[in-house]
Amino acid sequence: MTDPERTAATLLVRHADELVTLAGHGAAPLTGAALGELGVIPDGAVATAGDRIVAVGPSDLVERSVTLADDARVVDAHGKTVLPGFVDPHTHLVYAGTREREFPLRLAGASYLEILHAGGGILNTVAATRAADEATLAQRTRERLDTALRHGTTTLEIKSGYGLDTATELRQLSAAQRAGRGHAVRTVTTFMGAHAFPPEFRDAPERYLDLIVEAMIPAVAHGGLATFCDVFCEEGVFDVAQSRRILEAGRAAGLRPKLHADELASSGGAELAAELGAVSADHLVYASDAGLAAMAAAGVVAVLLPGTTFSLMGSHYAPARRMIDAGVPVALATDANPGSSPTESMQIIVNLACLQLKLSPSEAIAAATLNAAHALGLAHEVGSLEVGKRADLLVVDAPSHTYLAYHYGTNLAERVIAGGRVAWQRNGPRSEDRP
Ligand SMILES: [Zn+2]
Repeated sequence: MTDPERTAATLLVRHADELVTLAGHGAAPLTGAALGELGVIPDGAVATAGDRIVAVGPSDLVERSVTLADDARVVDAHGKTVLPGFVDPHTHLVYAGTREREFPLRLAGASYLEILHAGGGILNTVAATRAADEATLAQRTRERLDTALRHGTTTLEIKSGYGLDTATELRQLSAAQRAGRGHAVRTVTTFMGAHAFPPEFRDAPERYLDLIVEAMIPAVAHGGLATFCDVFCEEGVFDVAQSRRILEAGRAAGLRPKLHADELASSGGAELAAELGAVSADHLVYASDAGLAAMAAAGVVAVLLPGTTFSLMGSHYAPARRMIDAGVPVALATDANPGSSPTESMQIIVNLACLQLKLSPSEAIAAATLNAAHALGLAHEVGSLEVGKRADLLVVDAPSHTYLAYHYGTNLAERVIAGGRVAWQRNGPRSEDRP
């Protein structure tokens, strides 16, 4: 049967036990009680044409509203949950070397400084990254993107910050862009020269700020190498005044501000994020009530990183419930990095958000999709299943979204669809697929 009025779908996913749409929320991130409103459709379907979603709804309605292109692929999602692809809005994915050697030291109780003095810590990664060429960095990053994709991530942010000199910072960003080119995971880059003070500037921190503002930021902007500028705003790292100087210089060059804020102590980071109208403030373990109120008023997204607290064996997690009560939009990310959060899986982050941040399964899934897209300024494109948006979705081997949040430590992703194409699937071709 052909009807010229109906769109020819190239992919139809139908009969999902639960179709999690996150539809109908407009242009604002989800806050307060609305955070848990997933817009679940039982026996749901999604049809796509090219890289766009063309129909979403109950399976019978969707099947009636589209025709199938000759080479269309039909996926039966009976017994499964279908949801938007995960958006990971905070990673440090481009680096060389790994840090498992300091893991036993950390387990034995060595402090951050003891590890640093034993040749570990961030400066270990800086040394390895400085020594790596762009092709190597791009290849390692591509492998990590493959891992993220297999676990259901379809959009991911990547920060620099393991170069801490102009050449290496630019090389990191260039490698991150190279890794993302042609990859199924859509990538966004962030310049983070202010991740730490490099050893050669230990006695002259203001000279390193000059270098960031006068050399790095102009070069990053000129090369079109990043969308955002991020700073580790924390007592003993970059203080509020230094962070403001860098983020304002970044903004003047067209880089939107983001912050690592209040991770180790209440340092004024949340307040600064609100003052600057940052896209997001991340970590926020020790954010003040005043800072959270200011973020809520300014609409700054709080990106929470429970994997980091978990991996560092911390007992104090970000006050997510207090944030939700205060009206702050909450998102989740992996913080994937070799030192304090070596994972690319948003599934484990959703689980930790429930167990440690006390989010409900629906809240955690909203925070890992639509609100995470807001944390990258990409919610008009990704983060929900709505007509016109990019066709990024997952079929997970879970009868409900609650099961997805509850069952941890195994990869439940069965098919990952990015831009309307099956970018990854478990166990090769499935018998129920046609043609
Ligand atoms: Zn980080």
